[in-house]
Amino acid sequence: MTDRRNDLTAWDRNHFFHPSTAMGAHARGESPARTIASGEGVYITDTAGRRSLDAFGGLYCVNVGYGRQKIADAIAEQARSLAYYHAYAGHSTEASITLARMIIERAPANMSRVYFGLSGSDANETNIKLIWFYNNILGRPEKKKIISRWRGYHGSGIMTGSLTGLEAFQKNFDLPRSPILHTEAPYYFRRADRSMSEEAFSAHCAEKLEDLILAEGADTIAAFVGEPILGTGGIVPPPQGYWRAIQAVLRKYDILLVADEVITGFGRLGTMFGSDHYGIEPDLITIAKGLTSAYAPLSGSIVSEKMWNVLVEGSDRLGPIGHGWTYSAHPICAAAGIANLELIDELALVDNVRVTGAWFRAALDQALGDHIHVGDVRGEGLMAAVELVEDRDDRRFFDPARKVGPAVVAAMLEQGVIARAMPQGDIIGFAPPLCLSREEADQIVAATLHAIRQVLG
Ligand code: PMP
Repeated sequence: MTDRRNDLTAWDRNHFFHPSTAMGAHARGESPARTIASGEGVYITDTAGRRSLDAFGGLYCVNVGYGRQKIADAIAEQARSLAYYHAYAGHSTEASITLARMIIERAPANMSRVYFGLSGSDANETNIKLIWFYNNILGRPEKKKIISRWRGYHGSGIMTGSLTGLEAFQKNFDLPRSPILHTEAPYYFRRADRSMSEEAFSAHCAEKLEDLILAEGADTIAAFVGEPILGTGGIVPPPQGYWRAIQAVLRKYDILLVADEVITGFGRLGTMFGSDHYGIEPDLITIAKGLTSAYAPLSGSIVSEKMWNVLVEGSDRLGPIGHGWTYSAHPICAAAGIANLELIDELALVDNVRVTGAWFRAALDQALGDHIHVGDVRGEGLMAAVELVEDRDDRRFFDPARKVGPAVVAAMLEQGVIARAMPQGDIIGFAPPLCLSREEADQIVAATLHAIRQVLG
């Protein structure tokens, strides 16, 4: 067994090009490598037999937890009966039709159709094309620019990497800047003027957006893209009144709104969609992760009635839409999605998020709220973050070179709990499976407190 494990690690370092990894350090064996063998509930076990509570649900995606027999059976059954057929030219499978209906039944009001993809990135690429197509159909070829927020995360493709407002995903690749613009992140804790109330900061963000629209010309701005809660940018819930203020600006200038619900879709915030939670009325919704709980890769763009009607009119005039993936609506992934959505209902997981999420948040506040190096504890549902600071009174951040966040996360792992060191700032992120129990929530909080004390005293 040990030999086999050593072989695997060597093959990994020699042959496997990992995403988002320090390539040289990994290849040279200077950074830890971990091979995961199995998962059950909120736990994963690696090939060395070490078990960890996965308080990040993989990458905020294993929402129903690991090891669900029902989804495994649905995948196997679909593979046996029909592993694949495409969705071009009006073809479907029973699974893809059923899943599309289930998604629309659960989606916010006025959503009409689902276009299926494989990843959050490709779904956002689809959204961008649909937005451009929409404005071409409407005879507004100049209305093409898309605004997202600094710290927004929308994918790693060519356009979606540009849409993502995190430097690491853009620099070194010469991604196209145009026609993407970025506006201020609704990051209340890091606001420049600390005397601002949440409402005032929301008004400030909306003003910044309006200034940008006016500077560029409203007839050049097609859409605004945002996650209901900033995810990879730091797990940052919006300040009070943010979405109301932003939507008022977008309506004023006839700008489409894309809610990127790749993380928040299907229950993470204690409502089926984050849009329900914040009163967002999107024209497009991006879904992925929680759609199948990552048992199979599947994403979607949910298109509103308003956009759908225009797209249909355009297609009647211009011909079939020239946009498709071989694996759009892949039946095995759709079967996984159906079983996953059924499980979310059967296990009342959205209710569990509300109850256990509140418990988890209260426990985090109680354990960490007064710690001198904890600047902010924040979250919604089962998505939370702890932001560490050098000095909480004058909100001084640690020198990034100290890598305090990664050190705390490493210390947590030693205690058998996986959290994520968010990429910008010393931010410890949590997004556990939605089936988390109170005992498991307490275990995460205890490990966090212990690790912070160990690293920072
Ligand atoms: N949008 C959001 C909000 C995301 O969090 C992510 C992935 N973390 C994506 C899009 C991209 O999804 P994928 O990695 O599946 O391409």
